[in-house]
Amino acid sequence: MLRSSIKGNPVTTQTPTVADSRTNLRGPVRPLGADDWDAAAADIDAIQRLKREKDAIILAHNYMTQDIFHGVADITGDSLALAREAQHVTQGTIVLAGVHFMAETAKLLNPAKRVLIPDLRAGCSLASSITAADVRALRAQHPGVPVVTYVNTSADVKAESDICCTSGNAVRVIESLGVDRVIMIPDQYLARNVAAQTGVEVIIWPGACEVHEQFTAAEVRALREEHPGVAVLAHPECPPEVVAEADFAGSTAQMSDFVEQRRAQKIALITECSMGDNLAATHPDIEFVSMCRLCPHMKRNTLAKIRTSLETGRHEVTLDPAIAGRARRAVERMLAVR
Ligand code: SF4
Repeated sequence: MLRSSIKGNPVTTQTPTVADSRTNLRGPVRPLGADDWDAAAADIDAIQRLKREKDAIILAHNYMTQDIFHGVADITGDSLALAREAQHVTQGTIVLAGVHFMAETAKLLNPAKRVLIPDLRAGCSLASSITAADVRALRAQHPGVPVVTYVNTSADVKAESDICCTSGNAVRVIESLGVDRVIMIPDQYLARNVAAQTGVEVIIWPGACEVHEQFTAAEVRALREEHPGVAVLAHPECPPEVVAEADFAGSTAQMSDFVEQRRAQKIALITECSMGDNLAATHPDIEFVSMCRLCPHMKRNTLAKIRTSLETGRHEVTLDPAIAGRARRAVERMLAVR
C-alpha cells in the first residue's frame, strides 16, 4: 500500500526513545501535543525546499517516525513497495529513509540515480547474519536446491541467490518456483512461517530480526485478556508461536490494508512501534493497542540527518557493478512474480 505524505496534517504521537526498544510498552497509542510538531517545522520546511532544489525524492519505510513519515516522505511503504517505486523514480536523487539494504535495493533497481542514506550505520540484524560465503557453503551442502533470499540482505548475498522475496510476497515467490525444497535465508522465523503456509520443505539459516524475535505468545495472550475483542496482527518475522496466536499475519503493507479496510475497531500490531503510530495518526476512528518495540537501526533516521544528507550529498550508496548485475537479477525475478 503506497501513500503519499500527508502535508498539512501533521499529527504526531509519542514515540519512545531507542533506549526503550527492549521494553514492552503495552497500552493505547498516545498522541503528542502540537509542540512536537512545532519543534520539527524548521527541519521539515528546509527538507521540502531542499528536495525541490536538489531534484530529490524521499522514500520512507513504514517504520519511520511520524515527523518523517507524515512530514517529509514522498512515498511510503514496506520494502516491496519501496523497491517497486524505486524503479520508477524520475528525480536525480533518492533519499532512502530506512536501512542500508533498502538503499542498496533502490540503487540496484535504478542505478543511474544517486541514492543517499541519512545514516550509514542503519543496518539490520538479518542482513548482518549472513555473508556471500555462507550462501556458497549452503549451496555446496544442498546441490540443486534453489536459494530464496529475503530482501533484508546485502547486495553480495543477493548476488549469490536465485530469487529474492519480501515478507509480503514470500509465499507467492516460493510457490512460483514449483519445487518441493528450497533454501530460504536468512530469517529462520519467516522461513518457518512460510513453510507452514506452503508445504514446501525449507532449509533455514539461523538469522532473526532483533525486534520481532522479542515478541512472545504469552504476551499476545495477556494482551487479549487486557483488551477483549482486539484484532492481533503479527509480522511474519515473529516466531511461529506468536504468529499462531494472531488473527492475521502479514507484511507492514498488508497490515495497512487490513486497517484501511476497517476490519476491526481495536487493533494490536505486533511489529515495530512506529507502524502503529503512523496508522493511528490517520485512522482516529480505530483504537490501536501498542506492544511497542523499536528498531534501533530504523531509528537512526532523523529529520536532522535527512536534512544534512540533502545539503551535503552524504551518504551515497555505491555498488560493485559485477555484484550489482547478479543481485539485480535476483530482485527483478522477485518483482516479476505477481
Ligand atoms: S525491524 Fe528487524 S528486519 Fe527490520 S531493519 Fe530492524 S532489525 Fe532489520
